[in-house]
Amino acid sequence: QSTVLEVQDVTRTYQVSHGLFGGNKELRALRGVTLSLKKGEVLGIVGESGCGKSTLARLLLALDKPTTGDILLDGRPVSKTKTGIISRKVQPIFQDPYSSLNPRKTIGSIITLPLRVHKIGNAASQREAMLEIMDRVGLSTRFINSYPNQLSGGQRQRVAIARALIMKPEVVICDEPTSALDVSVQSQILNMLQDLQVKYNLTYVFISHNLAVVEHIATRVAVMYFGRIVEQAETEAFFRNPRHPYSQALLGSVLTPDPELGVPDPDLGTVFPDPLNPPVGCAFHPRCPKRVTVCDQRHPEPTGDRDDFVECHLFGPANS
Ligand code: SF4
Ligand code: MG
Repeated sequence: QSTVLEVQDVTRTYQVSHGLFGGNKELRALRGVTLSLKKGEVLGIVGESGCGKSTLARLLLALDKPTTGDILLDGRPVSKTKTGIISRKVQPIFQDPYSSLNPRKTIGSIITLPLRVHKIGNAASQREAMLEIMDRVGLSTRFINSYPNQLSGGQRQRVAIARALIMKPEVVICDEPTSALDVSVQSQILNMLQDLQVKYNLTYVFISHNLAVVEHIATRVAVMYFGRIVEQAETEAFFRNPRHPYSQALLGSVLTPDPELGVPDPDLGTVFPDPLNPPVGCAFHPRCPKRVTVCDQRHPEPTGDRDDFVECHLFGPANS
């Protein structure tokens, strides 16, 4: 299996204006993320809001640049030039099709836009590609001249998927692709995404709060906490035996009343660390029921290999 996308020790820091916080502070949204994505796999990324999932998605899409570290697609930097131009080989499907579709453009125009931006083909071939992809995502051609507000939420998400796939991308970054949809529509869209992934041998990065969705679609799972990946494992092994105490808490949350929000076990409290005053040692230690003496002193190093590791002192050399 060849590596398609590589994230090499990436950090992303934002400067927070001193007016608000009485001093120029650094907000580190990503604190050192390393990932290697193989062709045809579906990497599920889970974690609470604010853990850095969407920042990572924006970097993978070259909508933003890492502060340090590199992101390589087929061995080349995702964005060689400037931000804002999404690589043709990495395409997004975002959470909210309502806001990601231009309300003043027709569906046909929205779906073919990436081809026009990247000057691929002519009007006739673009139309042909549009008809083919609309068929693949189950959109009737009667919508070609409609506007987004004339479509249902599920249909709009099909438009967003068609727009991403018309580029024949290698990698699709799905950021909460079904979270804004009615439950009844979610599984249709999810199953369609899965069919398309197999059919086109696509590689997905699938970001979701919803662990049941990730278990269904992902081949591998990465758990993010406070700007880092704290555990990575094959999906089946992960759900059978989550190792990191935070992963265990997240899986416990599957049983809470609002699994959509990924609310952790109530016993853990809901306090996410203040990014402007990060905890010393393991970032999870203020909430961790299993912490040991060293946890608030030293940051745990990952134990395992690149695709299968856990970052927790319980698994460190001293304890294994
Ligand atoms: Fe808990 Fe310590 Fe492991 Fe962090 S390193 S998850 S505080 S046991
Ligand atoms: Mg998000």
